Amino acid sequence: MLVVYHSRYVEIYSSDPASAPGRIESILDELKASLEFVEPKQVNEQELMLVHTLDHIEHVKAHSLTFEIALLAAGGATKAAELAMQGKPSFALIRPPGHHASRDSSWGFCFFNNVAIAIEKLRIERKISKAVVVDVDLHYGDGTASIFAQSPQVTYFHPEGASRQSYVDELHRFLSIPREPFGILAVSAGFDRHEHDWGGLLKTEDYYTIGKMLKEFAEDKCNARRFAVLEGGYNHSVLGKSVKALLDGFG
Ligand SMILES: [Zn+2]
Repeated sequence: MLVVYHSRYVEIYSSDPASAPGRIESILDELKASLEFVEPKQVNEQELMLVHTLDHIEHVKAHSLTFEIALLAAGGATKAAELAMQGKPSFALIRPPGHHASRDSSWGFCFFNNVAIAIEKLRIERKISKAVVVDVDLHYGDGTASIFAQSPQVTYFHPEGASRQSYVDELHRFLSIPREPFGILAVSAGFDRHEHDWGGLLKTEDYYTIGKMLKEFAEDKCNARRFAVLEGGYNHSVLGKSVKALLDGFG
């Protein structure tokens, strides 16, 4: 299990909760002793344009620090996807998050759709044709869903679950649907559904269960290729432990 991380992710680029001081550090504290780290590069504008309109790119560019860090976040997801293709499961410990970024707009602390850029880059390079995105963030990834709405080769799934058990059951049902294999599994890894975060539902150990289910699915249906990308998660006292639990199952 590799962690894709750049020291610039701790920079405070905005006043939103994803950019809060101490958030990335709370995850680093849990991962740095046991996992190997890899440094990504920024994506270029051509790579952004695999997913986003020029108007949207120019809009984000108006805030130069946000733009810089967002390019590096997309680069982190892209690097994680590349490593996954080489048979190395990986986690992009990045911000800003991306799943609320659509082609021509973004909201919810997101600017560019990190996961979508990573998948489209693999598809344009013809390394994969089909991909599946499982989004375990509290919030529906409207950006990711809209970007791939016209792409039947890319499946997007977001479990809702009203209880811990029904959440895991819903994910299990989705993963058990008989179908053709995918080229890769991308996980939009948000942790804001934790019982001590905004969603108030999942326990830390549930993230281990979820990670393990996703690993087994990838081994069965995606040639073991899998990567996860940080989305939400805002309670710094439990965030790092949730990430660690997910990766313990996923790696
Ligand atoms: Zn969220």
